[in-house]
Amino acid sequence: MASTLGFYGGVGSVTGANFMLDTGEQAFLVDCGLVQGDRFAAQINREDFPYDPATVDVLFVTHAHADHIGRIPKLVRDGFKGKIYSTTATKELSAVMFEDAIKIMKMESERDDVPPIYGENDIERALNNWDTVTYDEVITLGDTKITFTNAGHILGSAMVNFERFGKRITFTGDVGNIPQPLLAPPTVPTDFDYMVMESVYGDRVHEEVEERSALLRHYIEETIRKEGTLMIPAFSLERTQGILFEINNMIESGELPFIKTYLDSPLAIRVTDVYRSSPEYFKPEVQDQIKGGDDIFAFEGLSFTETIKESKKIAQYGGPKIIIAGAGMSHGGRIRTHEKQFLRDRNSTLLLVGYQTVGSVGRLLQDGAKQVWIDGVDVRVKAQVHTIRGFSGHADRNQLIDLVYRGTMEKKPKQVFVTMGEEKASLFLTQRLRDYLGVNAVAPEPNAEIEIDF
Ligand SMILES: [Zn+2]
Repeated sequence: MASTLGFYGGVGSVTGANFMLDTGEQAFLVDCGLVQGDRFAAQINREDFPYDPATVDVLFVTHAHADHIGRIPKLVRDGFKGKIYSTTATKELSAVMFEDAIKIMKMESERDDVPPIYGENDIERALNNWDTVTYDEVITLGDTKITFTNAGHILGSAMVNFERFGKRITFTGDVGNIPQPLLAPPTVPTDFDYMVMESVYGDRVHEEVEERSALLRHYIEETIRKEGTLMIPAFSLERTQGILFEINNMIESGELPFIKTYLDSPLAIRVTDVYRSSPEYFKPEVQDQIKGGDDIFAFEGLSFTETIKESKKIAQYGGPKIIIAGAGMSHGGRIRTHEKQFLRDRNSTLLLVGYQTVGSVGRLLQDGAKQVWIDGVDVRVKAQVHTIRGFSGHADRNQLIDLVYRGTMEKKPKQVFVTMGEEKASLFLTQRLRDYLGVNAVAPEPNAEIEIDF
């Protein structure tokens, strides 16, 4: 049988994931994410989809990061009437993410005098048509069977596996780094004929996975010694909860002395609530810790600052402190207020713990900028800027190669499509998969439509 794979987003760039599997009988979409990062992103997200959303039958969602779900309400507004499937945690987190996104979009559309790309009713319609499944539960749609398997990336994240007439195709979504503080490692997909895989770190190795906790502790201790402020721009989803969990364990085991810690992000606070109510997604040892009576997201000195008023008070606290605030690439959110204040302070530190896309303030700082503009303010950088790559939520080059290696030992796949990375990373991984594993790997062009035997 011939099916067509459409690569309509998340090709040649990390964000904007949007793939179509058209079997001729049914048109399935996997993810419908926002394009993020550079100054053209806002414009791209307004454009029409390169297909008619009304002709799409079902949307499968790998996980609740904005670059995988951010355009779902627009898809609904533009005519999509089909069902949406994901894990329960992905749906709950998506609801929280949409609520936050629409607030920001409303502010931006007033500021820039452009109409919003979707409304609250589109979110509501999306959530009303959204069914949830557990890992490994089988969904049958005509001749196609679909399962979600653990991707170990964020709470509820999944790979989506399609099976039809004995052929299999796996969409990895984002693949988790190993080990993650809270989650079990990804389930290795096997027996697939085709794979559409991510490659965010397709050309890099996380050197500090083993040392990441020690490095985090080191920067916290240094902050205490210098009586400075440790700013951690954190992605509200997973990274924040992972880091809170690590600090929780260091404080409660006595490895670290008391330090005032602020989670200064209404979104991250809401996401943390979803985490707290979904312990079944954590790895067994974390579940045991919770069963033993520990609230893993609470320790002495930790405050959740929900309101702007509370947030503004943080700067008045003179002692050493940690501020965890979004957004993760300093492209918005409360972290910018703290950066304006504390990047000028030589006793303070900006600690980057996640991917910084080209063009973002975070990337400029990571690349050593001594001066940045934040909300029209000229900020001279005197603070230390450090990166701990080991906290990345993404598998690195070796882990991605290992995933394909272990998944293809029994059976050689027909083709592996390398996507969701900057061009350089995707091409590097493609070459490695060919050279090291003898796999027929390709990095498709944006908007490519490729016929497959499925
Ligand atoms: Zn992700």
